[in-house]
Amino acid sequence: MREFAFELAVCAAIEAESDGVVARQLGTRSRVVDVVEIEPGPEFDARTEITSEAIPGPAIESDVGVGRARRATAAIDADPGRAESIADRAVEIGFFEAERRGRKRVVRQATRYPDWIGGLTAIENKPDLGRPGDLERQLRKDVSLSLFDEIVLVTGSYVTGAHLNRIPDPVGVRRFDAETGSFETVREPSRLRSDSAGIAILEESAAKTDIEPIGPERKARMRRRIAERAYGKGWRPEALPGCERAAPRGPPFGPEDALPYCEWKERFVDPARECGPECPEYAPTEPPAVDPDALRDRRTGWKADPGGVARRQAGLGRFGEDEDGE
Ligand code: SF4
Repeated sequence: MREFAFELAVCAAIEAESDGVVARQLGTRSRVVDVVEIEPGPEFDARTEITSEAIPGPAIESDVGVGRARRATAAIDADPGRAESIADRAVEIGFFEAERRGRKRVVRQATRYPDWIGGLTAIENKPDLGRPGDLERQLRKDVSLSLFDEIVLVTGSYVTGAHLNRIPDPVGVRRFDAETGSFETVREPSRLRSDSAGIAILEESAAKTDIEPIGPERKARMRRRIAERAYGKGWRPEALPGCERAAPRGPPFGPEDALPYCEWKERFVDPARECGPECPEYAPTEPPAVDPDALRDRRTGWKADPGGVARRQAGLGRFGEDEDGE
């Protein structure tokens, strides 16, 4: 579990030096990435005004526009039930507005989707390079797909030339001191061709390798979906364990935070994996009152409770008939 504490410390340090958003444990086509950093694009502020949540990809990619209302089932590329639930969610978070046309609901975008994604960096944490596990193969997968603009390996180990030789060339390497929160750049990352086609390596065995070519348009969709999930998720655990031994704490460097520290284990713990009746020292109580969203709001450009754009749109009825004529 040392990796979990290392990851929290890495996230705290990256957040402190970033003007974008940081999130943990996001799935891509071929694997789950430890940490993702989204650099802000020119319309980042406009994105923060819409919603604090992730906007569903199919809603962004749909034919629902700003100026004309349409039925979700006609405009969202999904089966009817799923299209309606995607529209429900988009309305709930304020990206779509809904109105009735006769007995049918129609939706339109409350605002144009902004150009807020400046760049994506994938960060792979490996506190101890002496126990590399699958590291080399995972990084090769990431470079092959090139979904991110940059890939960086962060480690607590001293990095030797032999280590560097095993890490694919485009991958940057930073050494991290989890006590001080400081980084030392060992090797700068190379910019990947994230706007070109890539190859997702799905399964590898001695006998065969399953691959899937991913074209530029699909890749752009995947990048936007990752950025949206990162925007909505962040990196702090949502709640602390309901245990008398749990207390909120920040990493050794920097200000206080809402990270789950266990006074019995004398380290940060992963509540989902370590806490509960299975733990011999578990002493149930109300979880400590912490507000990770308030901290994220204070320390980043992300807004926990934006005013929203849907309510500012005046006169839904001023738009013309939707193209379904309903
Ligand atoms: S459940 Fe166990 S690991 Fe979790 S905070 Fe309590 S004592 Fe620590």
